[in-house]
Amino acid sequence: MSIARFWRETPRRYNLGGSRCTNCGTVYFPPRGVCPECTHHRQSIEKMEPFQLSGDGEVYSYSVVHEPAEGFEMQVPYVLALVKTKEGPILTAQVVDIEPKDVRIGLKVRATFRKLRQEGKAGVIHYGYKFAPSEDTETSIVPRGPAGAVRAAGVPERDRAPA
Ligand SMILES: [Zn+2]
Repeated sequence: MSIARFWRETPRRYNLGGSRCTNCGTVYFPPRGVCPECTHHRQSIEKMEPFQLSGDGEVYSYSVVHEPAEGFEMQVPYVLALVKTKEGPILTAQVVDIEPKDVRIGLKVRATFRKLRQEGKAGVIHYGYKFAPSEDTETSIVPRGPAGAVRAAGVPERDRAPA
């Protein structure tokens, strides 16, 4: 990614700035210029406004990743989740500050800004949003466990090679 593109995208990456259709109220992230909910009647044209997501949401589905993508080598296993925000949009993000085994559907989470990945040994560090639990996971009475969890397709669960 070029520096120019990185900075152009930075406000969105840091602030969870989306857009909202003032016609039907649907919120989008990333922001959209027209509202697909309204397109049939073209009612949303010029009715989209910037909208700030609160960063609050809950885990909608998740998978535990044991084989990292390039740049994530130091972080396995990690949890990649679909987080349904309070305002509606569903984001794909890493869930941090919790043991992967304790993550469950419905876990309340809040956006937090963290290092996303590093390119090369002394490379560019990208920051962006991740989600951390916003509820007390110790005393939660909601059943936890793998029921309903979406496993990453084709990712075998095997022991990691010794360090
Ligand atoms: Zn709309």
